[in-house]
Amino acid sequence: MLDWIENDAPVSHDTGDGTNDATGLGEIDRSGGRVTVSDKAMINSRADVNQLLPLKYGWAWDKYLAGCNNHWMPTEVSMQADIALWKSRDGLTDDERRMLKRNLGFFAASESLVANNIVLAIYRHLTNPECRQYLLRQAFEEAVHTHTFQYIVESLGLDEGELFNMYREVPSITDKAAWALNYTKHLDDPNFATGTPERDQDFLRDLVAFYVVFEGMWFYTGFAQILSLGRRNKMVGIAEQYQYILRDESIHLNFGIDVINQIKAENPHLWTAEFQEEIRAMLRDAAELEAAYGRDTMPNGFLGLNAELCEQYMHFIANRRCGQLGLAPVFNEVENPFPWMSEAMDLKKEKNFFETRVIEYQNGGALSWD
Ligand code: FE
Ligand code: MN
Repeated sequence: MLDWIENDAPVSHDTGDGTNDATGLGEIDRSGGRVTVSDKAMINSRADVNQLLPLKYGWAWDKYLAGCNNHWMPTEVSMQADIALWKSRDGLTDDERRMLKRNLGFFAASESLVANNIVLAIYRHLTNPECRQYLLRQAFEEAVHTHTFQYIVESLGLDEGELFNMYREVPSITDKAAWALNYTKHLDDPNFATGTPERDQDFLRDLVAFYVVFEGMWFYTGFAQILSLGRRNKMVGIAEQYQYILRDESIHLNFGIDVINQIKAENPHLWTAEFQEEIRAMLRDAAELEAAYGRDTMPNGFLGLNAELCEQYMHFIANRRCGQLGLAPVFNEVENPFPWMSEAMDLKKEKNFFETRVIEYQNGGALSWD
């Protein structure tokens, strides 16, 4: 009965000169040699994970610095206009209210799901200190995002139970959360360890589910919904907060893509034709779940936005994500129905877009020791 454990046991990476201590919390190797760049690896590393330097992955460190430069807090955004509009009788249509509430409900719990996956699943198995440095920054950003939904609920006087339970009570939202949790449950097992091709692929699937699908696909239709309201001067405070979240998320997504591609480069045996097909199927499924969510949140649609356009956008985004992972597209080529979103999606333009405020913050936040 215990046979499979033997066969499936993780490969030991202890070569005698280093450690295979993935957490960094094991016994100190007093006689081990110093860490060299060539010892460092994304997964199953033999290098001590407690030593940031020497850096191997400059892209991970750069994203950590970029995240720090983007610091913001939801409470810095005024909610006065949103409160007035939300409380006014005909400032928003019923369709807009329905979309807005479900959108907030989706994000409110999703930010916590993403945070828990980073901290409790990914962090343990990504055996590289500079990537962990970024994960720590990202984890804090997810806390800021969750704070945003607390602040919105409080400002607008929304029913907190209704919003935070939507991921359990609204089927089109539950279906998405359940789909993603299905990929993190292997890693959640305390006995899970990478080190066999099968388990390393489990880890890759989790990265795809959370970084590429959750943050890189589903969040983007969510952003499009709110930013489309903002473009019509509705709920401008929330729209501004979503722009900051989008700026953070586009780094999260790009970090995830880099992590996956680096693991591929270091472990080409994992990226089999069969596995590639599986990943493409994941993205196709995810786009379908999102289309169902779009129909549920926008049964009638409104100016500039409806379920069909959101589905088209998801096809466009899914193909784009495939390209970033080096996979063939999963849908027929479609045009981006929200070209205004691509401006916000491009990191360089975003930086430009937010430049004024970022400089302001850095001035305001500078400490004086005199
Ligand atoms: Fe987030
Ligand atoms: Mn995120």
